[in-house]
Amino acid sequence: MAKQNPKKDVVVIGLGWTGAILSMELAQEGLEILAPECGDDRNTVSDFQYPDIIDELKYGIRYKLMQKPSKFTLTVRRSMDEIARPYRHLGSFLPSDGVGSAGVHWNGQNWRPQKVEYRLRSYVEETFGADVIPEGMTIQDWSITYEEQEPYFDQFEKVAGISGKVGNLNGEIIESGNPFEAPRSSEYPLPPLPHTYDAELFRQAAKAKGLHPFPRPAGNASKAYTPMACSSNPAISAASASGSVASTIPSPHRRPAFWTR
Ligand SMILES: Cc1cc2nc3c(=O)[nH]c(=O)nc-3n(C[C@H](O)[C@H](O)[C@H](O)COP(=O)(O)OP(=O)(O)OC[C@H]3O[C@@H](n4cnc5c(N)ncnc54)[C@H](O)[C@@H]3O)c2cc1C
Repeated sequence: MAKQNPKKDVVVIGLGWTGAILSMELAQEGLEILAPECGDDRNTVSDFQYPDIIDELKYGIRYKLMQKPSKFTLTVRRSMDEIARPYRHLGSFLPSDGVGSAGVHWNGQNWRPQKVEYRLRSYVEETFGADVIPEGMTIQDWSITYEEQEPYFDQFEKVAGISGKVGNLNGEIIESGNPFEAPRSSEYPLPPLPHTYDAELFRQAAKAKGLHPFPRPAGNASKAYTPMACSSNPAISAASASGSVASTIPSPHRRPAFWTR
């Protein structure tokens, strides 16, 4: 028999980064939200605690955090005459389901685009001539600029607790960061991850050659952090710092106006 739930102001379907951030912002405005998520519910404890999270068989081999191809998959065919067949085993880019979704097992790379990427077509035309773009190639300029998006990158980095070192702070070049990056309005919320031994050797060798090594912006928390959009549960980023879960999960589901199913 169909079950009827009480009405809410907003229904957000799926609770990955997008749904979670959206839900958090709407809940902060006082709206009541229902977020149906087709995968498992997850919480920092016990889903990401040591030693369970380093269970290689469960996560590395049986892909506990990943979408099961028996549940959702992609189909592929090599020509219009072939019957499309489902992938039974996904290879390297493994999507997820469940609260946090791909955000709980992403690689945590958090690069911002370069300014030029917003006007790629114009850049190519100005630099190499319009003739180098073949007819039908869909290369485009964006309709927005880096400057317009910058506050949102800044906000996301604070939501996600990104570790890194600024290299261009409002146009001022900072030696230990990435001097090639587009200007940022503030520092990363967390200091860069400490160098491993081999990374430190690489840094020294690159520096000696007159190059500009810098720590990459990482979604792995370098220390305990309570992200802007998260509940008062610092353990969320402790899970990130473990390295097994390269992400911080915004946790709107701890707010009173929020229900997941
Ligand atoms: C292996 C891997 C590595 C990655 N590495 C990086 C990285 O280093 N840096 C980076 O910036 N990005 C990375 N990404 C990409 C990034 O993780 C994703 O872009 C991001 O997590 C997507 O978030 P999302 O909320 O838009 O979608 P998703 O995370 O896909 O969330 C969608 C949610 O909706 C649910 N859902 C779907 N349909 C329904 C339905 N009908 N009913 C209920 N629920 C539903 C799903 O179960 C899922 O939980 C990586 C992704 C993968 C898979």
